[in-house]
Amino acid sequence: MADNRQDALGSHRDKPLDEAVIREFSSKVRGQLIRPKDDAYDEARAVFYGGIDRHPALIVRAADATDVSRVVALARESGLDLAVRSGGHSPAHHSTTDGGIILDLSEMKGLEIDLERRTAWAQTGLTAGEYTAAAGAHGLATGFGDTGSVGIGGITLGGGVGYLVRKHGLTIDDLLAADVVSADGELLRADAETHPDLFWAIRGGGGNFGVATRFQYRLHEVDTIVGGMLILPATPEVVASFVAEAEAAPEELSAIANVMTAPPMPFLPAEMQGQLIIMAMLVYAGEVEAGERAIALFRGLAEPIADMVKPMPYPEIYPPEEEDYHPIGSGRTMFLEAVDGAVGQTIVDYLQNSSAQMAVAQIRVLGGAMARVPAEATAFAHRGSRIMVNVAALFEHSDEAAVYEPWVTDFAAALHQGGEVGAYVGFLGEEGEARVRDAYPGSTWKRLAEIKDRYDPTNLFRLNQNIPPATHARMIEN
Ligand SMILES: Cc1cc2nc3c(=O)[nH]c(=O)nc-3n(C[C@H](O)[C@H](O)[C@H](O)COP(=O)(O)OP(=O)(O)OC[C@H]3O[C@@H](n4cnc5c(N)ncnc54)[C@H](O)[C@@H]3O)c2cc1C
Repeated sequence: MADNRQDALGSHRDKPLDEAVIREFSSKVRGQLIRPKDDAYDEARAVFYGGIDRHPALIVRAADATDVSRVVALARESGLDLAVRSGGHSPAHHSTTDGGIILDLSEMKGLEIDLERRTAWAQTGLTAGEYTAAAGAHGLATGFGDTGSVGIGGITLGGGVGYLVRKHGLTIDDLLAADVVSADGELLRADAETHPDLFWAIRGGGGNFGVATRFQYRLHEVDTIVGGMLILPATPEVVASFVAEAEAAPEELSAIANVMTAPPMPFLPAEMQGQLIIMAMLVYAGEVEAGERAIALFRGLAEPIADMVKPMPYPEIYPPEEEDYHPIGSGRTMFLEAVDGAVGQTIVDYLQNSSAQMAVAQIRVLGGAMARVPAEATAFAHRGSRIMVNVAALFEHSDEAAVYEPWVTDFAAALHQGGEVGAYVGFLGEEGEARVRDAYPGSTWKRLAEIKDRYDPTNLFRLNQNIPPATHARMIEN
């Protein structure tokens, strides 16, 4: 019985990839194969987060959807773990594996923009920054997150909360269709009419249902925005007032407040280093004068320490990133109802008492267009949540996690306001099934497990925030 259960999970039959299998496989794919003996191996196995040292048996940089289908078949037939990678930013390190296969989509960067219909088909090897730059050349945009190097694959499948969230909703609210390679290797179209169950599930359900090879998005006119970084001193009162202003602001404005100790930055006065600051990112996607008026209210909360908010083309909100930045950290994601002075005080206290290299509480004010979509319309169901908070500690060596994990856990518990904690799947670490369930409240979890049963009954796609197929879950319960 136990063996059957293992098989139902599709797990760990581990047949190593021998030379004959690799030879046969490489004759069928157009993309690049990278193996442990290759010079490119160490670079190719690295992910965004540092301190992760996994050794896959094979990395395949797929060239097209047919390659993707072949890699899925190889994983199925070998029984090896399959890590699917778009931009490599998984906080749970799911896009790498020890001994398994990495399906790396980063070479698949095709983008077709239909200016007349205001839609775009984008292959999932694109990053948010690459897509935004290309669409921005036409004064158009689809909203992603706060970081340009995040892959459109992972962020879209998780939901996508970013600088246009209050104006245009989540990334998935602009998702019109997707091409998905399912566990049996078939290329499926998922949209409102074709495989609508799959289309519902991939809008928040992560990589559980197949490999998305391309997405079709709606584009909005987003040309010049008023946006950028505003740095304020972080006192409990300023934190609370910042959140109040962001909630009261017009929907054109989306705000992210990173409350943190000031890192060494060239534009910060030396005496500010180590002091608590709010490093805010603001975007007003609307008329410039109205934007300036909305931003003035934030500038008035305290004497700004640095002010880089200005009218700019939207793509400039994603500045160039350091390629060799690979942070190591622990974090917790949650939703809160309110951030008042008392919550501000808790945040300030925890951050001041942290010995981490960097400690941060990131506050994202939600609402607007995101909240108008009914909770049951997509697998991302936290539509009524008002504020997302992510607390994190960054440190130098992965073995320091034992020191900072308890701090992160305590900090998150101190912020908890009763009821369900909730979780945004994109920011979950390796936190266990109960936390994955937090991402899918109400009937969402059950509905996802049933769809998983239909599209991936053996749980081939298990290196993710996993939703076990309903049949398997029932076997375990009985
Ligand atoms: C620095 C940083 C900033 C972030 N900022 C934001 C933000 O502002 N807003 C937000 O919403 N999220 C944000 N996130 C979270 C981010 O959206 C998720 O971690 C997302 O999964 C990363 O996508 P990726 O493609 O880069 O990662 P990957 O590690 O490549 O993928 C993550 C997982 O997604 C699945 N996956 C990826 N691509 C595919 C595909 N094509 N088909 C099937 N499955 C796939 C796989 O299960 C994979 O393990 C941020 C993360 C980081 C590290």
